[in-house]
Amino acid sequence: MATDTPFKWTATRPNALVVACSDGRLQVATDAFLAREFKITQYDRFYVPGGGGALSASASSGNDVERAKQMCHECRYLVELHAVKRVILLFHGPTAGGRIEAACADYRRKLPWAPVAELRQQQEADAAELLGRRQP
Ligand SMILES: [Zn+2]
Repeated sequence: MATDTPFKWTATRPNALVVACSDGRLQVATDAFLAREFKITQYDRFYVPGGGGALSASASSGNDVERAKQMCHECRYLVELHAVKRVILLFHGPTAGGRIEAACADYRRKLPWAPVAELRQQQEADAAELLGRRQP
């Protein structure tokens, strides 16, 4: 086992939780975005297919509604267990005019007929729905 790591464990929790898509192509960009926009480099991670959208049942039916409930339950558990004070929900998709292949695979699964603009509208609706459920 290597013991020469420059990283040290600390007892201090970051008190921030990021809910983001588990798509591995995004992780470096996600870290850079969070450092630039939120000035955070350490945070708890809840990475699941769909990111913040996994918590929303608005575009879902059947098993996805149950999945969203379970994801919310797991997220709430982390918030309480780690005394999280700030939750950041991330969604991803292609840039304007970008390729459909760059859209979130979980949204493409839920809405297989939808073009990029419609997927983005659903993500915005899901974000609004989640913000509406936010508790102080
Ligand atoms: Zn995704």
